Amino acid sequence: MRIVFIGPPGAGKGTQAERLVAAFHMAHLSTGDMLRAARDAHTELGRQAEGYMSAGQLVPDAIIIDLIRQRLADADCRQGYLLDGFPRTLAQAEALDAMLAQAGTPLDAVLELQVPEEELFQRLAGRGRTDDQPVVIRQRLVAYRKQTEPLLAYYGAKGLLRSVQGLGTVEEVFGRARQVLDPRAS
Ligand code: ADP
Repeated sequence: MRIVFIGPPGAGKGTQAERLVAAFHMAHLSTGDMLRAARDAHTELGRQAEGYMSAGQLVPDAIIIDLIRQRLADADCRQGYLLDGFPRTLAQAEALDAMLAQAGTPLDAVLELQVPEEELFQRLAGRGRTDDQPVVIRQRLVAYRKQTEPLLAYYGAKGLLRSVQGLGTVEEVFGRARQVLDPRAS
């Protein structure tokens, strides 16, 4: 399966992503993880991305689209993949569509994890990543609302959107996600 995973920062996407890729045998493509690895390894990409990340802003589309284009060419993506944190803007979504149309490998579904904003703030504030300071958290939530939420309508119109509630235990949320991706599984 080829899945896009969308949800606000703090929704628990990373945790659920790990379970989903194990259950459905997909490669896990987290742009946040890729950028943090690049930053820690002091690569050119990491250097370019760092300022945006530490301010809670999105890294420019061209950089991210290039990164994903290269990653999708890797052999492990042939078994399917979960895109975690990409696309985050309409321009990224359109670029992804164009890539996948050209390759003849369309998306199977877009999974949205829904969590109320008050809850997000509490979860993020307790996490301790360098971009988890209150001002930066607020900026990341703003970026999500302004730039990423429009993707829900975009994928909804294509009939791909599957939304699940992100409140409850990890196991409960995982059960819901698995169910909407593969109703036969449970
Ligand atoms: P979270 O969802 O918890 O905010 P991520 O780990 O997905 O965190 O992303 C961390 C940061 O990496 C973002 O705030 C942003 O600066 C950058 N980033 C990750 N994915 C993208 C993307 N698709 N487009 C632009 N910037 C991105």
